[in-house]
Amino acid sequence: MTPSNLSEYDRRRDTGRSGEPSTASDDRPSWAGPDPVFVVQRHDASSLHFDLRLEIDGVLVSWAVPKGPSLDPRDKRLATRTEDHPLAYGDFEGRIDEGYGAGTVIVWDRGPFANATVGKDGRAVPLPEALTAGHLRVTLQGEKLSGDFALSHAKLGGDENAWLLVKVDDKGADRRRRPASTQNESVLSGRSNADLEEA
Ligand code: MN
Repeated sequence: MTPSNLSEYDRRRDTGRSGEPSTASDDRPSWAGPDPVFVVQRHDASSLHFDLRLEIDGVLVSWAVPKGPSLDPRDKRLATRTEDHPLAYGDFEGRIDEGYGAGTVIVWDRGPFANATVGKDGRAVPLPEALTAGHLRVTLQGEKLSGDFALSHAKLGGDENAWLLVKVDDKGADRRRRPASTQNESVLSGRSNADLEEA
């Protein structure tokens, strides 16, 4: 899967029916500032998961994290790379009634992020190169998540889309707080997935 490719996004869904953003516009999320953005969406689909998305080269490069991000540096969370999403997806909350991804989506966390990826030689590694190399370190400034997270390509059991998401041990680490279990509301609207189920 290469960066900056939205054809797979279009292939999997009919945005006219699902209500999700189309790929026709390259609008960034309404809340985005000058820095690149990250978003984590809580997606109560056939199985509940959290979608972590990073703005890289004009798209949201995406991973599905079944257990959600952890603030405990001891936890390794499976993060399965999924298709790139359009930038406007960072505003999307709603109910997908049928088809791919059917279920409810809320914006669970969001904010700016910075690339903190450094190579073995101490050189700063640009994000597209880091993606290809299979290791990224990013500094998130969200409401629930902050500090550095590492994403490493794992190839677990031959699954080429398997990555691991790990909290770096810094000021944003917390071994007790478990936002993926205890803070389920949207940071944009205050709504829960259940609220959207009934809407
Ligand atoms: Mn999803």
